Amino acid sequence: MSKKELLGILQNLGNVTGSLALDIWQNPQIAYEETYASEAQKEVLSDAGFRITDKIGGMQTAFYAEYGQGGPVIGILGEFDALPGLSQSSKPYKDPVTVNGPGHACGHHLLGTAGVEAVLALKELIGQGKVNGTIRYYGCPAEELLSGKTFMAKEGVFDDMDCCLTWHPGTSNVVQNYSTQAMISIKFRFHGVPAHAAGAPHAGRSALDAVEIMNIGANYLREHLVDGTRIHYSITNGGQAPNIVPNEAEVWYYLRGANRDQVEDMLGRMHDIAKGAALITGTTTSHELLANCYHMLTNDTLDTLNYRNMEDYPMESFTSDEVAYAAILRKSMDPKLIEASRLQLQLDTNDILPTKNFYDTSMKGTTMPGSTDVADVSWITPLASIQTTCGPIGTQVHAWQATAVFGTSIGLKGMHYAARIMALTAYDLLAEPALVEQAKAEFTESSAGSPFKAGLDDSVLAPGTERKEQLI
Ligand SMILES: [Zn+2]
Repeated sequence: MSKKELLGILQNLGNVTGSLALDIWQNPQIAYEETYASEAQKEVLSDAGFRITDKIGGMQTAFYAEYGQGGPVIGILGEFDALPGLSQSSKPYKDPVTVNGPGHACGHHLLGTAGVEAVLALKELIGQGKVNGTIRYYGCPAEELLSGKTFMAKEGVFDDMDCCLTWHPGTSNVVQNYSTQAMISIKFRFHGVPAHAAGAPHAGRSALDAVEIMNIGANYLREHLVDGTRIHYSITNGGQAPNIVPNEAEVWYYLRGANRDQVEDMLGRMHDIAKGAALITGTTTSHELLANCYHMLTNDTLDTLNYRNMEDYPMESFTSDEVAYAAILRKSMDPKLIEASRLQLQLDTNDILPTKNFYDTSMKGTTMPGSTDVADVSWITPLASIQTTCGPIGTQVHAWQATAVFGTSIGLKGMHYAARIMALTAYDLLAEPALVEQAKAEFTESSAGSPFKAGLDDSVLAPGTERKEQLI
């Protein structure tokens, strides 16, 4: 068996997985509601002979599909949730398919389907007896709420994996050897007393006042946090009408920091601020914890394997039509952001869809501003992630331009490249168990003293799940 044969198998799968990705892109569903994508992927995998375990943790759309027997167990993480309000056709100008509808502006239709493509190819090798072990694809819901994998982790479905691979659509081919931020998502609610705002304001206790005072407290807190921490918020309920003293109000916060200790410290302060705001306004307060994910642990052994495969089997260049499309799309983007990305990657001005590979070893130990629940899995098993070029330099995810380009042949090219690299690296791990042992030894060292502990206790349930049992 040579890696060239594996590339041939992937090539043959390209039409099926390309159609699957575009089918999911055309049927976007937001977090915890991704039934279309979950069912479509399960169908392809079960038709190919994979064993499916679904509804993990009671979540309708969470599943894994496995093939083969025994070790090593190599997993690939997939996602498929879309974002609200980012509906867009593949045209290079703003053109929503459904006004205010959801859209795949983070490219998770590509993210999940690349994993499906990789495991379908690896299945052929295991089926032909060329390598031994088990491959597993995880269909993970709700990455955008940063909690799907946390609930899956609580069910133990990642525990017996030996190594795990994943990726994310981007604007260049990068080994992601840097960390992501730990994050807590929490809603604070205030409960007051309604009253006629003009006739009897003295009888009212405003929950909205409490939300506003809480935000003032949070703003003062910002100065006393360590560098790099962030607090974002939106007011998700501010009352019904100005002439009614609002008796219910809600504010939703994301707290981010370099590690879990930092965000949990911030959370303690935020609870105190909520109590203070309630005391000041004569209201009461309650809260709902929605997500609490780790920062990312990286793994040099797996990163090096990924990079070697990227260099040995590079991305094909983009066609002149694809470059022309990208050039039109970029006209709607901020030139400063485009220039900043170009300088960071040291690209020529005309290299708008870069096929070069980047692995900057000096990035290890640094933290990028975003967060992901993939990080939870990185505390359970050795994990590596790459990014590939699925759109032109300057494209921001969570914007309509990303929905557009991720629905074209440019997005698909990046997806097939990601599938190729994950399949090649998984093949290396299946063929050379010593590499698995090396990745695991590194993981044991980097996670030493801090075994995985889910950030959500059993009182927190994923949306749509039912409490399994009630104590009598
Ligand atoms: Zn994403």
